[in-house]
Amino acid sequence: MTAAPALRNLTVLSGGMGGARFLQGLLHGIAAETLPGVAPDAHVTVIANNCDDWWIHGLKVCPDLDTVMYTLGDGIDLERGWGRRAETWSAKEELAAYGVEPTWFGLGDRDIATHLVRTQMLDAGFPLSKVTEALCRRWLAPTYGDSLTLLPMTDDRVETHVAVADDTSPSGRRVVHFQEYWVRLHAEVPAEQVVFVGLDQSTPAPGVVEAIAGSDLVILPPSNPVVSVGTILGVDGIRDAVRSTSAQVVGLSPIVGDTHVRGMAQQMLTSIGVEVSAAGVGLNYGARSAGGVLDGWLIDERDAAQVARLEAAGITAAAVPLMMTDHDATAAMAAAAIDLVR
Ligand code: GDP
Ligand code: CA
Repeated sequence: MTAAPALRNLTVLSGGMGGARFLQGLLHGIAAETLPGVAPDAHVTVIANNCDDWWIHGLKVCPDLDTVMYTLGDGIDLERGWGRRAETWSAKEELAAYGVEPTWFGLGDRDIATHLVRTQMLDAGFPLSKVTEALCRRWLAPTYGDSLTLLPMTDDRVETHVAVADDTSPSGRRVVHFQEYWVRLHAEVPAEQVVFVGLDQSTPAPGVVEAIAGSDLVILPPSNPVVSVGTILGVDGIRDAVRSTSAQVVGLSPIVGDTHVRGMAQQMLTSIGVEVSAAGVGLNYGARSAGGVLDGWLIDERDAAQVARLEAAGITAAAVPLMMTDHDATAAMAAAAIDLVR
């Protein structure tokens, strides 16, 4: 029996926290050589969601790109799960003292330096993908060299907005940026509609389609299926690339036991009318054989009864423990996902 060819190029479509945590486990597994068929010198391309991005105080903020970059570059504040470790908040306090709104969105002093560099480069005419490359020279290159590439999904301006109920508005609703829905409203008001501004006009950033087409495996980590992975796949060129790549495409469910593990996936799925379950999310992505994006879908052992529904729809499925409690547990999840479609 000959061994299956080694997987050398892996592509991950990532949101922020869930995606970054998964990537930590994946990279840990590659280094420890515990992933079946994955070459020890495998290259990982991360395509990150940009729809959380917004402009604030004149600065361009890219939450998911930065969460991935800081997490893998060991600069993240582990407790908050976003922003820089050993952060101070002088600028935020000074802005508040001037009465500058919004006061609910925290930009730490260290983090502001990242946003200043990004905004200056954008002002100078560099596309976001070039800016990201420059920022990653500090955060990722020293540790990972050429073996890890972080790309924004698009260089175009795209933003998720959420329509929420608001009695004080004549229309009874108000549209807020995703950041306001999440950070200020804590996703506690019903989301009546989610709107992805600019997404249908957007094109993939340079390198994105090439990475997917040249991949040996494409992975959808347990990131938000609507406002993270959903938006990445909402770029037509990316969805087409995922549908047509010769690589297998495998995902891991962010829904466990019929709710999200953290975040607001449940609210987002409800607002777009998708069943909040591991199978619901997998079936919404759909089987590649039926026009969707998945070959395999890994779900939590608690949801094992849903495997049959997925398989009936043409998606190879299995149930294993899916809690990212530490790097070893997460690497084991990555190994199981790879095994599912190998
Ligand atoms: P993002 O979508 O990656 O930007 O980050 P969020 O933190 O908003 O969402 C992460 C998603 O991953 C949520 O839908 C969570 O339910 C899911 N998630 C977080 N931690 C875990 C975990 O340990 N296991 C699984 N299966 N899903 C998780
Ligand atoms: Ca996010």
